[in-house]
Amino acid sequence: MPATDAPTLDALMLQAIARLRAAGDDSPHVCARALAQAATGLDRTGLLLAGNTPPAPDQAARFLALVARRCHGEPLAHILGQREFYGRDFTVSPATLIPRPETERLVELALDHMRQQEALLDAAAPPRLADLGTGSGCIGITLLCERPRWQALLMDISPAALAIARRNAHIHHVAPRALCLLGDMLAPPLAPRRLHLLVSNPPYIAPDERPEVMPEVLRHEPHTALFSPENGLAHLRAVCRAARHALIPGGVLLLEHGWQQGPAVRSLLTASGFSDVTSHADLAGHERCTQGIFV
Ligand code: GLN
Repeated sequence: MPATDAPTLDALMLQAIARLRAAGDDSPHVCARALAQAATGLDRTGLLLAGNTPPAPDQAARFLALVARRCHGEPLAHILGQREFYGRDFTVSPATLIPRPETERLVELALDHMRQQEALLDAAAPPRLADLGTGSGCIGITLLCERPRWQALLMDISPAALAIARRNAHIHHVAPRALCLLGDMLAPPLAPRRLHLLVSNPPYIAPDERPEVMPEVLRHEPHTALFSPENGLAHLRAVCRAARHALIPGGVLLLEHGWQQGPAVRSLLTASGFSDVTSHADLAGHERCTQGIFV
């Protein structure tokens, strides 16, 4: 068949957008463009320039196959094998939580503290942070990329997740400053009084909230990264305990939590003796992160 009889890339894109929308994708244009880029190897400009011509048959077939996977509910991040977080691409797999935009707020807050602490520190000794339940490593690795003096302990209970974090540390050139450690945040193997900052986006969904979690999330993301017993607070409580043990005086604990858990997390931190306990809202206006200073 002459190439001219085949549908153009633009025509394929329009079909894909309609199918993605019908399947319930909430941003079908963005999704179709990302899948077309993955199938053709073209960047955004390349896609625009190639719009009037039919793609090579193998590229068209690849594109349709990717669209079909997305229409069956597979997360876009899993199809692409990556997700952008704080301006960088992170490798993800079904073993890791897919990084969320809310978590970028935690990163911004952490960066503010890191800058403040750097100003007070002895220039010779590298400041240290830990990211408990690191998953893809998106939080800890972003912090290392942004603040080159720091070293980090990236800990996760899942060997498969930790392998992804390790790969991301290499991709983003921070592996020499990142120690990837297998460990359970309910009993983390941390040395006392060594950390300047402890960050965590732990599992925090209560098991009985399961019916409210999106089916796509339940089907494709690791439940160990999502659910925590004791009303969703068991892991938050454990991280708080770990922070009391591992932070130096003046060190900062920063936690992400559920949008209704702000009051509970603040009392947890206050009862554990943290000072300046404050919660911060995400872009939707929900309390999403809480911080405290270890005194
Ligand atoms: N730290 C990772 C993230 O924020 C993973 C968090 C988790 O698995 N609960 O995406």
